[in-house]
Amino acid sequence: MIVEDSADLAPYLTFGVHVSCRHLLTVSTIEELAQALEQFPHARILGGGSNVLPTEDVDAAVIRINLTGTKPIETGNVNTVDVRVGAGERWHDFVSWCVQHNLGGLENLALIPGTVGAAPMQNIGAYGVEQDRCFVELQAMERSSRQIHTFDRAACEFGYRESIFKNRLRDQYVIVSVTYRLDKPPHKVNVSYRDVAEEMAEGRNSETAEGRNGETVTIREVYEAVVRIRTRKLPDPAEIGNAGSFFKNPVVSAETLASLVSQHSEIPHYAQADGSVKLAAAWLIDQCGWKGYRDGRVGVHEHQALVLVNYGGGSGAEILSLGERIQRSVSDQFGVMLTPEVNIW
Ligand code: FAD
Ligand code: NAP
Repeated sequence: MIVEDSADLAPYLTFGVHVSCRHLLTVSTIEELAQALEQFPHARILGGGSNVLPTEDVDAAVIRINLTGTKPIETGNVNTVDVRVGAGERWHDFVSWCVQHNLGGLENLALIPGTVGAAPMQNIGAYGVEQDRCFVELQAMERSSRQIHTFDRAACEFGYRESIFKNRLRDQYVIVSVTYRLDKPPHKVNVSYRDVAEEMAEGRNSETAEGRNGETVTIREVYEAVVRIRTRKLPDPAEIGNAGSFFKNPVVSAETLASLVSQHSEIPHYAQADGSVKLAAAWLIDQCGWKGYRDGRVGVHEHQALVLVNYGGGSGAEILSLGERIQRSVSDQFGVMLTPEVNIW
């Protein structure tokens, strides 16, 4: 176990904010995690730091999860392969591994920063797919007993950017590995999302693209299309501090939507299976005039209104304060309260 006292967390946070913690412990085995939790039962858990915003120095220990390993498990199923992945593996490396091994299901989730262990926390999703599509189970260490428990999909209570670990079991478990079930060929790809469909068509000559449907497109083509779109559209945290979408897309009732449409006929909305409706937070923020707004060292990305950025030297408190101003203005103009997706520490 690597232990650093009074460590600056900035190198471990994609927002790049400078805050210190009492002790930073990097654990690479289950035994080290158990030791660390025994010594610091209330430690904060950090994966890749791409969804966390500390607003002040952390008056506690921080445990960085570095449990690695990607191991196929024999199930006897001829159509699928189960793979158990250490919580500290980089998510994008795992998705790339799947594509290299011609295993389908997660290719739409390419280039999402962070670790495998954090993926179930908010049921990460992009381009029409969420990680629970392939999820089998996870193993997690209970903080209080330091025993390993297994959670299947139902037990995780996955929802839209939600899981039981963000709600009822918040701060009670540390995820140590996740098992995914990937499809062997022939694959069924998901190219329903407009950006992906357009990018795929761009990458081919138009004659071929027109004749293509979901069955004949390869998972590698989808993966590469997603990587191209994301590289073009999203700010790279290595160049400009950010944590992706700062807010979740709000989900409202059909009645609320009807009232919004009567005043804003062009409002983008997406029907959900349960009859509710998802709104695009980026559109609401943009309508309030925030896109490209800059306040000193922090601001709203010029191409992506949902992404708050740290231009350099900005503090967590400055970023949070900007987020709160945006929340108020969206609430005033649309009567919709945005909730942060980023974990505020
Ligand atoms: P951290 O930021 O380190 O932690 C996030 C939370 O999970 C914290 O509360 C932490 O305590 C907890 N946690 C971390 N690891 C564990 C563990 N092993 N056990 C228990 N708790 C743990 N998200 C999406 O859903 N879709 C996207 O398309 C997407 N795009 C992004 C693009 C950019 C440029 C950026 C910067 C972020 C994006 N994100 C996206 C958000 C983020 O990448 C994901 O939420 C990711 O899963 C966070 O992983 P992490 O390892 O960095 O977690
Ligand atoms: P976009 O294509 O500009 O779309 C804006 C929003 O509309 C998205 O948030 C998306 O919701 C929703 N949307 C668009 N087409 C949809 C469809 N066919 N069905 C249902 N919902 C639809 O989005 P973007 O900003 O470029 O991001 C592309 C994808 O990457 C999105 O899935 C987004 O969630 C993901 N992403 C996430 C983060 C993060 O930090 N969480 C950061 C960057 C990108 P959904 O978000 O529910 O898909």
